[in-house]
Amino acid sequence: MMEQMVPTHNADRDAVRNSPLFKQQALIGGRWRSAASGGTIAVDDPFTGETIGAVPDLDRQEVQGAIDAAQAAFKDWSRRPAKDRGALLRRWHELIMANREMLARIITLENGKALKEARAEIDYGAAFVEFYADEATRAFGEVIPANAPGRELRATREPVGVCVAITPWNFPNAMLTRKLAPALAAGCTMVAKPASQTPLSALALGLLAQEAGIPDGVLNVVTGKASMIGEIVTSSQTVRKISFTGSTGIGAWLMQASGPTIKRLGLELGGNAPLIIFDDADLDMAIETAMVAKFRNSGQSCIAANRIYVQAGIHDRFVEAFRTRIAAMVLGDGFDEATDIGPLIDTAAVDKVNEHLDEALKAGATLLAGGRGEGRMMPPSLIAGVRQDALLTREETFGPLAAVIRFDSYEEAICLANDTPFGLASYICSSDPRTIARATRDIESGMCGINTGLISNAAAPFGGVKQSGLGREGSHHGLEDYLNIKYLCQAGL
Ligand code: ADP
Repeated sequence: MMEQMVPTHNADRDAVRNSPLFKQQALIGGRWRSAASGGTIAVDDPFTGETIGAVPDLDRQEVQGAIDAAQAAFKDWSRRPAKDRGALLRRWHELIMANREMLARIITLENGKALKEARAEIDYGAAFVEFYADEATRAFGEVIPANAPGRELRATREPVGVCVAITPWNFPNAMLTRKLAPALAAGCTMVAKPASQTPLSALALGLLAQEAGIPDGVLNVVTGKASMIGEIVTSSQTVRKISFTGSTGIGAWLMQASGPTIKRLGLELGGNAPLIIFDDADLDMAIETAMVAKFRNSGQSCIAANRIYVQAGIHDRFVEAFRTRIAAMVLGDGFDEATDIGPLIDTAAVDKVNEHLDEALKAGATLLAGGRGEGRMMPPSLIAGVRQDALLTREETFGPLAAVIRFDSYEEAICLANDTPFGLASYICSSDPRTIARATRDIESGMCGINTGLISNAAAPFGGVKQSGLGREGSHHGLEDYLNIKYLCQAGL
């Protein structure tokens, strides 16, 4: 099977590399820059394994230069009327949508995901820019009833200052716009550090921001060694907030390293989402929920359903219908319109899914679809009869392996679902209003999909509890995370 996967989309790949949006330099203070050292970091095409480009391996001084540029731009940007900032964000949104197809193709080239998923990511990512273009004008303050005659008490909202966004490779466009749009709307300036595997989507967004007229220094995009950039931005007195999406380990390190400078932190970390399907669930709805919650982005999502708990009465019908749907999915080159599941980001990602699969099978689970992956290709797979102590119940699989665990009672399901240090997303399927009300109350997660796996939306608050993170992105709460409250107390009136 693997031998047949010869790339047949060379022309598509060349078209991306020849596009003006395919920038391979960092953006600092409005200038496109290579590293003074000439050093670069190669970017791979996950499907072919070939190098498709290279971005600058910036040094400390150059990263500091980006922080300085953001600081220099802050005063003017923060004092512009919110309506003007909103207008520039709206223009940026228009340019993103006008370049939707090429931006999607850049994602497919550097991340490997199927084109249809990449297009959906552009729509989702752009929605944040559109949403916050409007939200910019709604950073309202408060008038507080005075505590004495002749006094006026007010609370205003101010942008926190220079911010840093550190983003992962799984949604190279949307994870960035989700941070950039509220930050810029609030009046903050930004240094963005995309994942080394997928920096090209971020650089393309930088180019379009520049074309939209967003002033020099307001948005800077840096590339280079993550640990060095992490050290500089956490220890900087100038950087007032870091917004990070990635692993819990790096999030914990950033929090610790930001301690001495008391920064604000937005952390969107690992998940280990449970999906609970109760006996009274609508079968079609449950299957649809499971397909999206598990296989969106090939399972490489922090809200992917890692553990699928199915009640005994519906178990066999669910597993059979789920197996049929999974077996019909197409594994292949992301550039093929027919592809549902592209390559995973690297071979280590496939090794991890294989490890989870092998361990569960050894402990007695049954393989019903798919099987082990090879290279970067991991077929969509289904195992049932998984034990609650399996490795995959404790670690994020981050791949297209669906694991079904049978349960009997409501209490058992909730107890199993909450048996994790994480609490990002959860999903429940039921048609009983009482079960839904109880389960949404009892489940420990920042978000819960009820009879749906499709929960992400720019207007809704995304974020976790427990070790899944701090803060919320999207919605008006996402804007709050980039604003400080200033209390004003005036006497003698
Ligand atoms: P993943 O497993 O998704 O790659 P990581 O947490 O390793 O998750 O990476 C998420 C983002 O954090 C990436 O942009 C990565 O380059 C960055 N990163 C990794 N290590 C550090 C670090 N020490 N300091 C700052 N950023 C880091």
